[in-house]
Amino acid sequence: MSIAGATASADLTKICPLVSRRTNPKYEADKTHVVRVKQVEFGAGRPVIIAGPCSVESAEQTLELAHAVKAVGADMLRGGAYKPRTSPHDFQGLGLVGLEILSEASLQTGLPIVTEVMDPRLVEQVGAYADMLQIGSRNMQNYPLLVEVGRLGKPVLLKRGMAASLCEWLGAAEYIAKEGNRNIVLCERGIKAYPSGEYSRFILDLNVIPALQSETFLPVIVDPSHATGVARMVEPASRSALEAGSHGLIVEVASERPGAPCPKCDAAQAISPTALGRIVEFARTCIGQKAEGRACAV
Ligand code: PEP
Ligand code: MN
Repeated sequence: MSIAGATASADLTKICPLVSRRTNPKYEADKTHVVRVKQVEFGAGRPVIIAGPCSVESAEQTLELAHAVKAVGADMLRGGAYKPRTSPHDFQGLGLVGLEILSEASLQTGLPIVTEVMDPRLVEQVGAYADMLQIGSRNMQNYPLLVEVGRLGKPVLLKRGMAASLCEWLGAAEYIAKEGNRNIVLCERGIKAYPSGEYSRFILDLNVIPALQSETFLPVIVDPSHATGVARMVEPASRSALEAGSHGLIVEVASERPGAPCPKCDAAQAISPTALGRIVEFARTCIGQKAEGRACAV
């Protein structure tokens, strides 16, 4: 069976029967599996906005940003405690201390936390603090990690590998689902394709949103920050993603307070809380996924 009318011929009903729409008749038509993270619901009609720093750098920085994103209407807090960096000489994240800071930020604001886990041996540790575990782009096909995260049973944000096909992406989701956990939210975060790197970091693949919605019942959100790598491009990319039917966004934010330290990681793509507020406002009025009856609560 071909994928969403494209030329690919992979049979998703065999590769990923647990997450394929075709093999799960209760998700017929355009119904979405609602993924709950505390009070937040992905795929229920209201776009979910996740925001926060790229990396947790200090308690002051993360608490300030947590309150700032909450004030403009974000639903969840992001922030990396364990960072996948190109160079081992770069800042690697605060680790356990970063997780404790995130916990405090969640306690103070009521925002649930999503944070990345990179190492199967750390799934239990990260899971003790995170409300949702993020599998980063570089680890989408780290199968032992997917199995461990699946076994933990907490909701998962599964980012697309930067050169992954739809089939490979849903195959990765199947590893998590096979462990009994279908609370998976997919995240398009830009792919490597010519001319990525020339004027933006990656190429944001908006076509994959309706393609995924044909092939799976899992909710899908978009990361406009890593997809573009350029702060100025984050707002238009966010609006386009929501119009294309994205169930939410995950956005990197940095303080606009004079004298605030420059982020150690991904500074060029961080937007201000003020700009985030405009995105939230757009999301609350965008009709992209608002049609009644699309969510499937079971
Ligand atoms: C991130 O969200 O912090 C991140 C590293 O993203 P990605 O895995 O998409 O590069
Ligand atoms: Mn980042």
